[in-house]
Amino acid sequence: MTDRRGLLIILSSPSGAGKSTLANRLRDWDPSICFSVSATTRAPRPGEVDGEHYHFQTYAQFKKQVADEGMLEHAHVFGNFYGSPRAPVEAAIEAGRDVLFDIDWQGAQQIQNSPLSAHTLSIFLLPPSITELRRRLESRGQDTAETIAKRMQKSWDEISHWGGYDFVLINEDLDDTEARLKSIVTAARLRRSQQPDLTAHVRKLQSEFEEGQYDPV
Ligand code: ADP
Ligand code: 5GP
Repeated sequence: MTDRRGLLIILSSPSGAGKSTLANRLRDWDPSICFSVSATTRAPRPGEVDGEHYHFQTYAQFKKQVADEGMLEHAHVFGNFYGSPRAPVEAAIEAGRDVLFDIDWQGAQQIQNSPLSAHTLSIFLLPPSITELRRRLESRGQDTAETIAKRMQKSWDEISHWGGYDFVLINEDLDDTEARLKSIVTAARLRRSQQPDLTAHVRKLQSEFEEGQYDPV
């Protein structure tokens, strides 16, 4: 039994708003936070490592994992399938470790409607402007002009779901966003639902009262 249950921390945003950057900063701050490595049918980008950035799967492998109820959520994004494998998440939160998800609004919605919803913290990142969003996508230097155009086209669709999240952060200054993100995580860890030992502690306080172990003034 642990004194803390793990949180499912969901980060969503339109592509390029800063999810990966902030996810990395959160994990540098607290290395005990696990990253949920998604499965995807999309091809690896240069530098992406199988099992570290994604589990790169064929469509048949992906479909089988969904059929076996091995995914906590899954969605079709930018023409490819993405999903969060269930087993590592359940093991981590049971062991009191937080799990960080970089997933889209469809995945966030599915987890928020699942039996794990009480342990979920969802955060949406907005860019300061659409011009800046485009600049960030271009400066990342990872995508072709065609892919960037596709991501920009989809960005309004993602932004339009901002209202389904517990917290919304405008990611203008990176250090400032990081500080606000850490405050949110720190507070969410103290939710009643995340502290399974609280009931036992309150019972102990109650029995101290009942046994008269205090000195009334
Ligand atoms: P996402 O994971 O949401 O697609 P990234 O984290 O890859 O986005 O960020 C896209 C680009 O924008 C990266 O080059 C990153 O360094 C940069 N970036 C992220 N946040 C900021 C910020 N607050 N100010 C300036 N650049 C940023
Ligand atoms: P990318 O191809 O840029 O890595 O990711 C594209 C989009 O897919 C991003 O918005 C990312 O958040 C989302 N995504 C990545 N993994 C998952 C997942 O497991 N489930 C869902 N629903 N979305 C994901």
